[in-house]
Formats: sequence, structure tokens, C-alpha cells
Amino acid sequence: MTSTTLINPADETELQVVEHTTLAGVDDAVARAVSAQKAWAALAPAARASALRDFAAAVGGAIEELAALEVANSGHPVTQARWEAGHVRDVLNYYAAAPERMIGKQIPVAGGLDVTFLEPLGVVGVIVPWNFPMTIASWGFAPALAAGNAVVLKPAEWTPLTAMRLGELAIEAGLPEGLFQVLPGKGSVVGERFVTHEDVRKIVFTGSTEVGKRVMAGCADQVKAVTLELGGKSANIVFADSDLEKAAATAPYAVFENAGQDCCARSRILVERSVYEKFLHFLEPAVKGVAVGDPNDEATEMGPLVSKTHFDSVTAYQPDDTDVAFRGTAPTGPGYWFAPTVVLPKSRDDRRVTDEIFGPVVTVLPFEDEADAIALANASVYGLSGSIWTRDVGRAIRVARGVESGNLSVNSHSSVRYSTPFGGFKQSGLGRELGPDAATAFTETKNVFISSD
Ligand code: NAP
Repeated sequence: MTSTTLINPADETELQVVEHTTLAGVDDAVARAVSAQKAWAALAPAARASALRDFAAAVGGAIEELAALEVANSGHPVTQARWEAGHVRDVLNYYAAAPERMIGKQIPVAGGLDVTFLEPLGVVGVIVPWNFPMTIASWGFAPALAAGNAVVLKPAEWTPLTAMRLGELAIEAGLPEGLFQVLPGKGSVVGERFVTHEDVRKIVFTGSTEVGKRVMAGCADQVKAVTLELGGKSANIVFADSDLEKAAATAPYAVFENAGQDCCARSRILVERSVYEKFLHFLEPAVKGVAVGDPNDEATEMGPLVSKTHFDSVTAYQPDDTDVAFRGTAPTGPGYWFAPTVVLPKSRDDRRVTDEIFGPVVTVLPFEDEADAIALANASVYGLSGSIWTRDVGRAIRVARGVESGNLSVNSHSSVRYSTPFGGFKQSGLGRELGPDAATAFTETKNVFISSD
């Protein structure tokens, strides 16, 4: 059996060794999930709702414990990690309302009664990346369970600890054995087996666009349902008529949160040319003011990058100070530290403008007018998120409609809300998570006609 030695990214100390699930282990888990799902779906909706509320309460009671695990495993600042654990509790509570609201339709037809049922799919495989290990897991498992499915979940190899603890908390809260199983291991083994296993009826994949394409191709083989939440290179568009000081003061937090390891990071700041220099003048103190340091410190706003491999990948994009306007601060010594970095590229085709760096590097480019801003924002294979800063309501509406992106925020940088739909355009993904309809995405519609003759 293979294993991974987890490293604390803030100080490079060894945390623990996690053994990988084998192929046979995955098959055993899926077999358990198949039988657990049948019993779960047969329960009264109110009983499933109550079980999910108990699970939420167990997560709520473990917020400090889960946060401490995420700080050590992923280097997230403790205040952020607490928010993430609380978010998992909230997502569970939100979808605990769904079992009693899986409402079909009665459709008028001649000769009888026509009704639709929202039937669970069976076993759902959830594959999670390393950047937000708890929250992204919950966006898949909570609505899937609520719709009457069983879930097998593969955390990222580097960051399995909080997901593994959530699996234990589910059992402690009284969820049936086998209903929600967390299987740490390699994507090439556990993740791929979810895709090829005939009893796994849907894949929820969050991760890179490259791997997402392979997962989608694999799912095609069995016509398996798939939701993809992939990469991003989102634009933060700042017009000259906006509250420039506020736009500049908030911009660092829209890209450097979680050290830029955020699919929604607004990593391209686009500024109307007439206020470009003025915006940079306001941006500099804001970037230098980001508190980068020990994730256990309550005042810390940004921690280290997740691993040495990822540190090397980010550094390759910005090995020196070429084009760098200014940088924030970062600790020296052990840990994968990378200071917030603001780059002024010479060209719109610079790969730091087009590639998802997934680190604390932001480019700032000027644009000419509204049409140019929309064209520049859309000059990307991605379309996940973005922000628009203007005091002109009409312009805000026009630009929001013009930008090809799944989640936009005007005069703000709204993060993900569990009550609103989330997902990407173009190569940022397929399907939507969260919001009022997410549980329905884990069902098949069945139409039944009952003759009245
Ligand atoms: P990744 O390399 O694509 O991995 C994501 C997950 O897929 C991991 O659990 C990985 O396992 C697994 N995996 C790898 N190869 C696989 C295969 N052949 N079959 C099935 N599963 C496989 O992505 P990452 O580097 O962890 O995450 C960063 C990416 O995720 C970024 O592109 C980011 O934008 C994206 N992301 C998107 C969203 C969104 O909602 N749109 C949210 C967060 C992150 P291992 O850990 O074992 O490799």
C-alpha cells in the first residue's frame, strides 16, 4: 500500500502519514455505498433531514478541531479555516431542508394523472482539489446526500485531513455506515476508479481544466453524469467613475486570499487608462498592508503556498522582479512563502495574463473604454468569476451581461454563498453547484402516467 507524508507548509515539518486507498478498497467502499444508499433512500424524508441536521451539529461542534487541521495541513489562516468549517455546517443545514422539498410535478394530460418523481442517482463520486478541502467537499456531498444518494469522496492527496475527519463526524452523528465514505489516495487510482466504476452514477469533479477534461471523457464511456468546477483567470474591472480608493483597497483580498490559490481569484485587474496610475498609487499600500505570516496568528490574512511543488510552479511564473510594480511582505526561513506580487505586463498575451498561476501574483492592465474592457475580460479560455467597479448602474448591468462568466460581483468581490448558484462558463466548468437547485442535480426525473380508465 502506498502513502503520503503530509508536510506543514508553514514550517516544513512532517505532520503525519496517510495511507492510500487501493483499487480493491475503492470497490469495497462502492459496494458498501450501494447497499447503504438503498436503505437511506427508503427512509422517510423527515428522517433524512433530521440526520443531516445532526451531521451539521456535529460539524458545528468541531469547528476549532477542523480549523486546526486545515491550518496545519493547508496553511490556511486560522480565521479563514474557522469560516470554512462553519461554512460546511451551514451547507449541511441548508441542504437538510431539501429531502422534504424534492418536489415533482403534476402535468395535465388526457386520460389520467401524470406525475414526475426526482429519483436519487445511487452512488455519487466527489473528487476534491487541495485549495479548499472542506468547503468544496461539502458542496458535493451535502446536496448529494440530501437527494437520497450515497457519496464516496476522494480528497486531494496533499490535503486529506479535514475531509477524513468529516467522514468520522458523519458516523459519530449517526449517519448510516457506508453512506458517506472518505477515501484518501491518488487521483490516478481512486479518482479514476470512481470514473470507471459502473455503480458510481455521477462524478462531481473540482480541479484543473486539464484533469477535468480527462474525467469528462472517461464519464462519456458510461454516459455518466458529471459536474465540472475547473480553473479560472477572473477579471476585476475598474472604471474611472468608480470609488477608486475602495476598489484599490479591496483588490488585494480578491486575489491574495488563500495565497491566490482560489479558482475565483480576480488575478487580472483591468483599469480604465485615465485612472491607471492613480489606481496603482492606491493599490500599493493596500498590497503592502496584507498581513502575511504564521497561519495560527489571529491577525494573519495570508499564509504560505500549499507545497514545495506548487511553490516551484508559482515561482516559475515570476522568478525575479521583471515587470514587478511592487510586492507585499512574506516571512523568510522555512515554509513555502511567496509575497503578494503586482505585475505590469507589457503585452495582453503575456502568459501571466492568460495562465492560471494559482498563486499571489496579479497583473494590472489598462483598457480604453467599455467595449475594450469587456473584450479584454473575455479574452480567456476561462469564465468563472469577476468584479465590476463603476457608479453607473446602466454600465454595471451592460458589463455584467457582457462578461462571459458564471459569478460576477458589482462594487464588491462577493465570495461564494451556499444559497446562490456557482459555476463557470467556457473551460471553467460544466453545471452548477450550490443554490436552491443543487440537490435536483443529483436526481433523475422519472415520469409516471396513471390511467384513470
Ligand atoms: P487537479 O490536479 O486537477 O486535482 C484535483 C483532484 O483530482 C485531486 O483530488 C486529484 O488527486 C484528482 N485527480 C488527479 N488526476 C485524476 C484523474 N486522472 N482522475 C480522477 N481524479 C484525478 O487540481 P488541483 O491542482 O488539486 O486544484 C487546483 C485546480 O482546481 C485549479 O485549476 C483551480 O482553479 C481548480 N479549482 C476550481 C474550483 C471551481 O469551483 N471552479 C474550485 C477550486 C479549485 P491528487 O490530489 O491525488 O492529484
